[in-house]
Amino acid sequence: MIDLRSDTVTKPTDRMRTAMENAIVGDDVYGDDPTVNELERLAAKIIGKEASVFVPSGTFGNQLAVLTHTKRGDEVILGRGSHIFQHEVGAAAVIAGVQLRLVDDEKGYMSLDDVKEAIRSENIHFPETGLICIENAHSNGMAVSPDKYEEIRKLAKKNKIPIHMDGARVFNAAVSLNVNVKDIANYADSVMFCLSKGLGAPIGSILAGDREFVKKARKNRKLMGGGMRQAGVIAAPGILALVEMVDRLKEDHDNAKMLASKLDEVKGIDVRHDRNDINMVYCTIPKELIKEEKLVKEMKKNGILINGAENEEYRFVTNKDVSSEDLEIFMNVIMELTK
Ligand SMILES: *Cc1c(COP(=O)(O)O)cnc(C)c1O
Repeated sequence: MIDLRSDTVTKPTDRMRTAMENAIVGDDVYGDDPTVNELERLAAKIIGKEASVFVPSGTFGNQLAVLTHTKRGDEVILGRGSHIFQHEVGAAAVIAGVQLRLVDDEKGYMSLDDVKEAIRSENIHFPETGLICIENAHSNGMAVSPDKYEEIRKLAKKNKIPIHMDGARVFNAAVSLNVNVKDIANYADSVMFCLSKGLGAPIGSILAGDREFVKKARKNRKLMGGGMRQAGVIAAPGILALVEMVDRLKEDHDNAKMLASKLDEVKGIDVRHDRNDINMVYCTIPKELIKEEKLVKEMKKNGILINGAENEEYRFVTNKDVSSEDLEIFMNVIMELTK
């Protein structure tokens, strides 16, 4: 199958499987797993933070950050299109017990004025603003130049509000912008990133920040049921994800650009070139060309997996297990189905 649904579908490499088999393990809740410890040390170093904690998923990492930064009843400022708001099952209300305050982020980032306006002043009626969340790369497909956050960082600092970055694809952002990932992470107090997406590890994400924050987060991870035991078997491929899989992300980005330009040639298909910075192609395919249900079904018959549209937009995601030849096959099928 050619799988364009997400980069979460990537399979571990042979080297990852070997590393899993040979991983030295211990009980990580006791701090005894050398492979987890190595991953956490390496991840913190690469992202430019003092410490990090290994978590089962990106959603877990984001929600752990929200829980650790805030108290119940706080308000969290974040983008309307953000993953934490759109795609995490309302967890912030359930786990941290916070209220979300939405700000426009169609350009991939929130404007300084909007964030300024959303920060609560002291008033007996108001909740307290406990956290600002930013996202890079944004899940709308944009890699955001870090300087776009400069003013928000200053504003947050002045108001003593921490910033959490949902950096599920922060390495895609760094590769796309051709900057060191530290220069992106530098704009936030805590950063979550996924090892299990384009980097190919089977499981796991990292939450990084300063020592004190990570110590608190480690205890909250236990509270949330995320204290793992011989987790070295999943940390081992995570190490390889960071060491061996970052540079090749450019290939996925190049493939996504190639796919975007080919889709553009199909009459009626509207490609969002303004949101084609990483490994994702967003486009609309009008019902008159082909209905959603039929497209998904016919693709599957041809050995291709795609998701249905969300808000009328399709998202096709390139990844290490999809070659440029696979994309040609995909294009041939799309042209056949829409002619
Ligand atoms: C995938 C993703 C997450 C969550 O990761 P899971 O491991 O699927 O829980 C969070 N934020 C963004 C922007 C993502 O794309």
